[in-house]
Amino acid sequence: MQSTYGLGPGEYDELLRLQGGRCAICGGTRKQRLSVDHCHKTNLVRGLLCRMCNGRLLTAARDRPATLRAAAEYLENPPAQKHIGNRYFRGKRASSSDQQESEQGGEPS
Ligand SMILES: [Zn+2]
Repeated sequence: MQSTYGLGPGEYDELLRLQGGRCAICGGTRKQRLSVDHCHKTNLVRGLLCRMCNGRLLTAARDRPATLRAAAEYLENPPAQKHIGNRYFRGKRASSSDQQESEQGGEPS
């Protein structure tokens, strides 16, 4: 096997073993081969990631650590809950039983 994405022969498998066979971010084990993630500015190989973490998570965060930290803080301390208390989203995508109840107006809690 020739060098792929900057890894020499055997290095992919070695890195995969050292990562415990898991995505370095979510820890997921995927049946699909993990991607070789690299910094797009420097081409430095960072590690092996699943497609969701490599293709979506890091892309959405534009590789910015601060954005990912802010996302974690957001999830652990949601601003709506902090400022206005618990509110529950009632969108059209609620399950059909929920939707019927909310459309018919349940008892106020
Ligand atoms: Zn992942």
